[in-house]
Amino acid sequence: MNPLRFHNTLAGKIEDFKTIRPAEVGMYTCGPTVYDYAHIGNFRAFVFEDLLRRFLEFRGFKVRHVMNLTDVDDKTLAGARREGKPLAEFTEKYTQAFQEDLDTLNILRPNHPAEQPRATREIPAMIQLIERLLKKDRAYVSEGSVYYRVSSFPGYGKLSRKNLEQNIKGARVDVDEYDKEEGADFALWKKAKEGEPAWDSPWGKGRPGWHLECSAMSMKYLGETFDIHAGGEDLIFPHHENEIAQSEGATGVPFVRTWMHCRFLLVDGEKMSKSKGNFYTLRDLLAKGYDPMAIRYALLSTHYRQPLNFTLEGLKAARESLERLDHFYARLTDPLMKTRSEKGGATRRVALTKIFEEGLIRFDEALSEDLGISEAMAVVFESLREANQQLDRGGLTGEDSSACRGIVEKIDSVLGLGIADNLKPSPAVLKLMKEREEARRKKDFQGSDDARKRIEQLGWSVKDGRPGEPSQLKRKKRVWEKE
Ligand code: AMP
Ligand code: ZN
Repeated sequence: MNPLRFHNTLAGKIEDFKTIRPAEVGMYTCGPTVYDYAHIGNFRAFVFEDLLRRFLEFRGFKVRHVMNLTDVDDKTLAGARREGKPLAEFTEKYTQAFQEDLDTLNILRPNHPAEQPRATREIPAMIQLIERLLKKDRAYVSEGSVYYRVSSFPGYGKLSRKNLEQNIKGARVDVDEYDKEEGADFALWKKAKEGEPAWDSPWGKGRPGWHLECSAMSMKYLGETFDIHAGGEDLIFPHHENEIAQSEGATGVPFVRTWMHCRFLLVDGEKMSKSKGNFYTLRDLLAKGYDPMAIRYALLSTHYRQPLNFTLEGLKAARESLERLDHFYARLTDPLMKTRSEKGGATRRVALTKIFEEGLIRFDEALSEDLGISEAMAVVFESLREANQQLDRGGLTGEDSSACRGIVEKIDSVLGLGIADNLKPSPAVLKLMKEREEARRKKDFQGSDDARKRIEQLGWSVKDGRPGEPSQLKRKKRVWEKE
C-alpha cells in the first residue's frame, strides 16, 4: 500500500504521515461555537475532516476523534442575553441542531469521549493548565484575568510564520483587555463581567479564553502530544498558534505532529456574508429542496487545499454525479441484469471485477497523496464508464455483482455518499417519525404534514401503512428513479 502523505501546515509542505502509536490516530478538530445554526462554510471544514477520518479508518487505523463544542464565548453569551435564556439552555438548542446536521450530511460523529466535550464542563482541566503556565512564568494575573505572556515562548509564530516583532506586537488590543502587558498577549482566563455566567477559579470568578479551551480539551483526551489537529484556514492564526504556545509552553513537548487546514468556502466567488445575501446554513439549503447527499458531494469534491467555490449550479452538477453513481449501483444489483448474462460470463467476470479492483487501488493511491479527491473521483467515474460498457454488452454474473458491489461499498465507506444504499435513518429522522405518528394519532394533520416535509428534506420518504400499522421509512430515491 502507498505510504500516506499529508500537507502539514507546521512544516509548510507535504510530508510522510507517521503516527505516534502504530495503527492508531489521535485527531482533534475544532468544533463549532454553538450560538447559531452552522453554515455551509463550517461544513466544508467538517466534511474535509470527515473524509480524512474515513480514509484513515479505511486504511485500518483506529481513529480517536475528539471535537469540542465551544459553548461559552462572547457570541454565545450575547445570544443567551438577547433571548433572555440561561446560557446552557441557549447553547443546548444549537448543540442538538449541530449534531442533527452532522447526521444529515452523513458526517461520522466524533467518537472520543462518548459525548463531545463542552467547554463549560471542562473548566477544571483549563484551570490546571493555567496553573502550569503561571508556574513557568508564561502567564500573569492582572486584575482578575490571566494572560499568556507571548514573549516568553520563543516558538511563537512557527505555525503561521508570523514575525513577532512586525506583526504581532502591534496587534489590536481588545477593548476589554486593556490590562495586558503587551498587545500580543492573550487572555487565558477572563474576569467575570456583571451578570454573566462565571466559574470559580483561584483568580476569582470568570470564564476561560477560547484558545485555552482547545488546548485543555485536546490534551485531556488525546495526551500531551497527538497526531492530527485540523480546522479551517482562519484558525491558523491566532487560534492554533496560541494553542501551541499554551500547550508546549506548559508541557515542553511537541503538541501536535500534523496540522491540517482547509481553505475557505466561497459562495459565487465571494466571501459568504449575511449582508451580501449569499449566506447559507445547511438548513437553508434543505428548505430549498436540495438533497443532503448532493450538498455533501459538493463540499467533498474540491480538494481541501483549494478554495471551494460553492454555487447552486455546482449543486445540480453534484446531484447528477450522484445519480450516475446510484444508477450504476442499481445495475449491479439488478437481478435481470444477472440472468441475462449468465452465459459466457466467465471472461466478462474477470474484466468487470478487474476494473474495480484496479480502480480501488488507484482510488487509494490518489487519496494517499494529501487526500487527492479530484483524482480519486476521476478514478471512480473512469471505472464506472468502463464497467457500464461491459454491462451494456450484457455481462454480469452473481460473482461479479457481489465482488463489484463489495468494492463500491468500500469506496463509499470513504466518500460517505450513501451510494451503496447503506444509509441508516439518523436519530433526527427517527425523532421526526415519532412526532409524526403522534400528530397522526391526534389527527393533527398540519403537524403530521410538517414532520413529513422535514423528513423529506433530510432525504427520506414516508410510506403510510394501513390504519393501525406503523409507517415505513424509505431512503428518498434521487431523481433518476422518478423518471
Ligand atoms: P466556528 O464555529 O466559527 O468556530 O467554525 C467552525 C469551523 O468552521 C472551523 O474549523 C472554521 O475554520 C470553519 N469555517 C468557518 N467558516 C468557514 C468557511 N467559509 N470555509 C471553510 N471553513 C470555515
Ligand atoms: Zn480550537
